[in-house]
Amino acid sequence: MNASALKPRVLTVLGATGTIGVNTLDVVARHPERFEIFALTGATQVDRMFEQCRAHRPRYAVMTEATAAAQLRERVAAAGLTVEVLEGSAALTAVATAPEVDTLMAAIVGAAGLPATLAAAQAGKRILLANKETLVVSGQLFMDAIAASGAELLPIDSEHNAIFQSLPRDFNGDFQQAGVKALWLTASGGPFRTLSAEAIAMATPAQAVAHPNWVMGKKISVDSASLMNKGLEVIEARWLFNARPEQIKVVVHPQSIVHSMVEYADGSVLAQMGTPDMRTPIAYALGFPERIEAGVSALELMGKQLTFEAPDTTRFPCLQLAFDALAAGGNASAVLNAANEVAVARFLDGAVPFSAIAASIAHTLEALAGGVATTLEDLLDADRQARAVAESYLNRVPA
Ligand code: NDP
Ligand code: MG
Repeated sequence: MNASALKPRVLTVLGATGTIGVNTLDVVARHPERFEIFALTGATQVDRMFEQCRAHRPRYAVMTEATAAAQLRERVAAAGLTVEVLEGSAALTAVATAPEVDTLMAAIVGAAGLPATLAAAQAGKRILLANKETLVVSGQLFMDAIAASGAELLPIDSEHNAIFQSLPRDFNGDFQQAGVKALWLTASGGPFRTLSAEAIAMATPAQAVAHPNWVMGKKISVDSASLMNKGLEVIEARWLFNARPEQIKVVVHPQSIVHSMVEYADGSVLAQMGTPDMRTPIAYALGFPERIEAGVSALELMGKQLTFEAPDTTRFPCLQLAFDALAAGGNASAVLNAANEVAVARFLDGAVPFSAIAASIAHTLEALAGGVATTLEDLLDADRQARAVAESYLNRVPA
């Protein structure tokens, strides 16, 4: 009998009300004997959190927004649930690091997820990392915390999960020793893959969030449309796998069946394939090292064509900006990430055109990159400054 059959994993899900959170709880519900939910967190979606509390009976539910927490408290009291409702961002760290918790699903969107995820890394938890912005902002610091505490890090992002599956199980970040030449990140190309630069510049939020292959939160959907998502993933791969920037390649693969690849010195290229459904990487990480049922439909390859093409950094400058930020080092990735978060939010509000996203990030990088950022305070400072510079730039852009 294996260990997981004896003792369930005790899980906190940060961002439970989001797309990744919902998929995580779907997989968890398929294996009631394997998992126990300690805490679920959300920000604004009270109805969804209430339903999750009813279904999963966590010990704690966190709503970072105080009004949402107050509403949830009333609902759970009226329903006679025993869950304790907490509020505010500090509660995220508390439920991510509680001694009872052994596994953390980090699925908050944006740099807002960083403090609690970093604290869990310092506390030596098994971390299932969806929140790529944590690694983009604080890559070195985060990986150092993982190494120092002996925490276990399992990537949820489908590309990184694919690479993790395609690397040797004992891979320790030494490309030479493992005979690894390059990591190949596949990109769907997003909804604007075949549009002209002019059409992309004028694209609406509704067009940008209509991803051809994946159902995702709004922010990452816009990132996929601009290819910033792939840029963030390049930086994520740099830290997760200790890759040099030139060892990370991007290839556009519109069918989203090959989720990424590892190229070896002998010419072998190992890929992980599957139906595009985030429950596969989530189940892989939840069950690791065992494989568990995920509810995903089988991959149907008959009659399918798989195609591959080079990314176009002229129509999609955000990808190049991310490579530039990675090369610049220091505070640049934190600046890139914060400027992008601000620009995407403004774009989704209808306040600025799609083309303003790349323009404002380029402007903000120009203004701020070059600073040293090693401590969490430095990085949060770079994040704050970049938000201010990007805001003031975007205030001058006509809608
Ligand atoms: P969603 O927007 O669907 O969900 C985001 C979650 O974070 C929600 O639970 C939301 O709460 C919560 N949240 C939002 N803002 C804050 C805040 N300031 N403080 C605390 N919690 C907050 O995003 P996704 O699930 O799509 O993505 C989550 C992360 O996973 C992102 O980093 C994304 O890049 C990454 N990822 C997602 C993939 C996907 O397929 N969706 C694939 C690969 C990576 P509420 O909804 O209650 O307001
Ligand atoms: Mg991805």
